[in-house]
Amino acid sequence: MKLIHTASEMRAWSLARKAAGQTVGFVPTMGALHEGHASLMRAARARDDAAVLSVFVNPTQFGPEEDYDRYPRTWEADQAMAVDIGMDAIYVPDAREMYPEGYATYVMVEGVSSGLCSRTRPHFFRGVATVVTKLLNAVLPDRAYFGQKDGQQCAVIRRMARDLDMGVEIVEMPTVREPDGLAMSSRNKYLSAEERKRALCLSRSLFAARARLDAGERDGAALLDLVREGMAGVTIDYVELVDADSMCPVDRVRGRVMLAVAALVGNARLIDNIMFTPPECAG
Ligand code: AMP
Repeated sequence: MKLIHTASEMRAWSLARKAAGQTVGFVPTMGALHEGHASLMRAARARDDAAVLSVFVNPTQFGPEEDYDRYPRTWEADQAMAVDIGMDAIYVPDAREMYPEGYATYVMVEGVSSGLCSRTRPHFFRGVATVVTKLLNAVLPDRAYFGQKDGQQCAVIRRMARDLDMGVEIVEMPTVREPDGLAMSSRNKYLSAEERKRALCLSRSLFAARARLDAGERDGAALLDLVREGMAGVTIDYVELVDADSMCPVDRVRGRVMLAVAALVGNARLIDNIMFTPPECAG
């Protein structure tokens, strides 16, 4: 497995693969890898000829009061997981090369970036869209793989790739969960045993809402109330029902929707969501 540190080396590596007629699949991450990341890597490994992982804790998506400095970094284990899955290369850019002195260019995706996570993290999607653009410009993949767990992030990146004619297919992979339902996240490492138990109310509430959706409930307020009640033991940031593409709030389920939650559990800010397409609207 090749370890690559600069954008120019990364581009040369990918161009050589493409010249040989291979497709390049790409999985961008911030490291502290878990089975959620592994599922994206396995998908790239299975579908593309050459599979690239990036590990970069991106400073521009963290606010000044957020956890950039203490974000978990587990480089040795990350590398071992990538080798085990059979990735061909890991791109590990240096923060000073990514954002040199005088850096001034940012990508802003309007509309889909509003609401939900933007309300408490106003800087977040600007940082994500910018770093993903830079990573895509270095890796030049045919396909890039993202997790549905970060549902608004997927919508932002899909919109950006389409609007900027990036010529990359954005593949959205299902959320990987712990056996008890908790969505896997690098930030779960922050949870104490007691907090880990309380954190379960996010997925449990969403699953309860899914059962109501399956039973025919289409009223937004009823679904939001149900989820909020289930999350009484944590500090709710938001509970929202939005259109799955535009991220605009909806008060009734009439097409594909995302029911999304964010909450503080101890010091960890956790997010989770479910997607739902009413059978009467499917196909
Ligand atoms: P991160 O390292 O947290 O920035 O995540 C890197 C990629 O892995 C993003 O596309 C995430 O959506 C995805 N990801 C994180 N957690 C999960 C999960 N539990 N299931 C599926 N994908 C995930």
